[in-house]
Amino acid sequence: MANLAGPETCVRTIGRCIYCGSTERLSSEHIIPYALGGYAYLGAASCQLCSSITSRIEGRVLRKGGLLYSFRRAAGIRSRRPKVDLCEVQAVVNGEVVDKLVPYEQAPHFTIIRRFDTRPGILLGENYDPVAKPRWAIGRAANQKSKIQALGAKGFQETIAMGDSYERMIVKIAYCAAVGRVVLENLVPIANHLVLGEKCDIPYFLGEISREDCPGKFETLLSYSQHKHSRGYALSVQFRPFGGDIDPRYEAVVATMERSFAEIEKDGGVKTWRR
Ligand SMILES: [Zn+2]
Repeated sequence: MANLAGPETCVRTIGRCIYCGSTERLSSEHIIPYALGGYAYLGAASCQLCSSITSRIEGRVLRKGGLLYSFRRAAGIRSRRPKVDLCEVQAVVNGEVVDKLVPYEQAPHFTIIRRFDTRPGILLGENYDPVAKPRWAIGRAANQKSKIQALGAKGFQETIAMGDSYERMIVKIAYCAAVGRVVLENLVPIANHLVLGEKCDIPYFLGEISREDCPGKFETLLSYSQHKHSRGYALSVQFRPFGGDIDPRYEAVVATMERSFAEIEKDGGVKTWRR
């Protein structure tokens, strides 16, 4: 997990909501969430209603009680409101479950992330299959055992809320990255519906790319590619949301374009930006 320092930077000012198109009461939108080390943002890019949806999604993943909260704390990821925070751990001592309060930095934690076996189904020419489900993978930090022993315990339990918030947050990163890169007027968005929860076929548009599939392409955090189809091009974004050299490397199809990337670039509709 990257813990990047840097001034917050406006990549583009959009002037309308990138999710619903509203031009009322717009606020800025971080491309990679601030809590994941992102500092680039889109100015005037989200209306109040859509902001409430996306902040609820990110909250379920990144804030207290969320999937990645204990991981963020243990990894020392920055916070807007830094504070000493205690984590309630259910330790298993002598066969009995005992509640303990310990600082997050000392608490054992799981990192639970979504893994996909393939690239997005749409890029593989597959039909959407609502039965095909991605899997969750669980990673353990190296010093887990000593942390558990320090609690006087043999094991611990952790309760987490699942839902589809994680995938929607991941798709949102890819979509915001695309809007930062390509002028919104050149895109017919797909991912906005996924982020808002209007479509539930997220795994069809979101998948994973391996180092072998994409050798040498990930010197930067993000890359973009276009895929020709009958009515133009599908725009996909490949990215590592946790930065640095940490997998997974996700790929999401976020929009279609009537013109190719190169044509859009020719008249200044493409921009380069950093995390
Ligand atoms: Zn909106």
